[in-house]
Amino acid sequence: MPDSLPYYVLAFYHFSPIDNPQAEMKAHKAFFKERDITSRIYISKQGINGQMSAAPLAAQEYMEWLHAKPAFKDVEFKIHYHHEHVFPRKTVKHKINLVAFDRDVNMENRGEHVSPRQWKDMLENEANKVLIDVRNDYEWKVGHFENAELPPCETFRDFESYTQELKAKVDPVKTPVMMYCTGGIRCELYSAILKENGFEKVYQLHGGVINYGLQEGTKHWKGQLFVFDDRMTVPISEEPAEIVGKCHRCQEPTEAYYNCANMDCNFLFLSCHKCLEELAGCCKDSCKEAPRVRPYHQQNPHKPFRKWYNYFDQESNPKTD
Ligand SMILES: [Zn+2]
Ligand SMILES: [Zn+2]
Repeated sequence: MPDSLPYYVLAFYHFSPIDNPQAEMKAHKAFFKERDITSRIYISKQGINGQMSAAPLAAQEYMEWLHAKPAFKDVEFKIHYHHEHVFPRKTVKHKINLVAFDRDVNMENRGEHVSPRQWKDMLENEANKVLIDVRNDYEWKVGHFENAELPPCETFRDFESYTQELKAKVDPVKTPVMMYCTGGIRCELYSAILKENGFEKVYQLHGGVINYGLQEGTKHWKGQLFVFDDRMTVPISEEPAEIVGKCHRCQEPTEAYYNCANMDCNFLFLSCHKCLEELAGCCKDSCKEAPRVRPYHQQNPHKPFRKWYNYFDQESNPKTD
C-alpha cells in the first residue's frame, strides 16, 4: 500500500442464503459504529453486495469478521487504495433483491465464471464470439474492453429484448457469449437470462473489470472504470490505458465525470477542465442561470452529487432554499 493512499477500498458480493437479513444488517451497523469505515452495503435473503472504504486496521478486521461467518466464508474482496474515504457515510441497507429484476429468474442456471487470465486468452483466441458490456452507457463512455458491444440494459426488460434479437442473429447453441460488468454481480443475473433463452456458451468475467485490472492489467481495456463512489472513475491498474472519454461540450479527451451543479438538472457528464470552469460546474449555459445551483468548488469539484442539505451544512452562505 503506497503511503499516500492510506485507505482501503473494498468491493465484494456473495450469493449465499441469509435467513435473517435484518439481523445481519444490525450486526454490520454495530461493527461499523466505532470504526473508521464508510460504506454502501446491501444485504438480502440472497446474500451481500458491498463496497466500503476503511483505515487499514478496520479493513482487516472487517474482512476477518465477515469471513468468520459461515455464510460469508468464501467472500472474495477486491482491494484498491485511496487517499480519503469514498462514501459520505456508513450505509448498510436491507434489500429485497440484490440485483433488480421484476420476475422470477432461475439464478441457479448462470454463466460460467472465467478467470481474468482465461478471459484474456478468450479475447485473443475465441473465434465468432459475442462480447458484451452489461453496464450503463455512461460507464461505457469512459472505458470498456476493445470491440465490446453495449446492448441496451438499463432495465432488465431492455436486456430481455436484446437477448431475443441476438438469438435471431447468431446460433445460441454454438456462439460463445462473453459478458462483463464492474464487479461481476450484474452478470449473475444477465447470464441467467441468456441461459434461459437457450444460449449455451455463456461466460462471465469473474470479479468483473476490477478483478481483471488487478490480475491482468490493462491489456485489451481502454480508458478508466466508472465506480459508484466519490472517486467516480479509476484506472483499472497502474499500467497506462488509452483515454476514450470525451468532453460532452468540446469533445476534448477527458476522463472526469461531474454532476451538473444545477440541482434540478444533476445530469452526469464528462467535461474537460476548461468547459467546467466556463460553466461553473454546470452542463450547459441555461443551467448556470437556474435558481438552485450548488456552489462550485474549484479545488475539488470532481465529486458526485450530494443531497442538497450537505451544501447547507458546509456553506456559510447558502444560495437559496
Ligand atoms: Zn470541453
Ligand atoms: Zn445541467
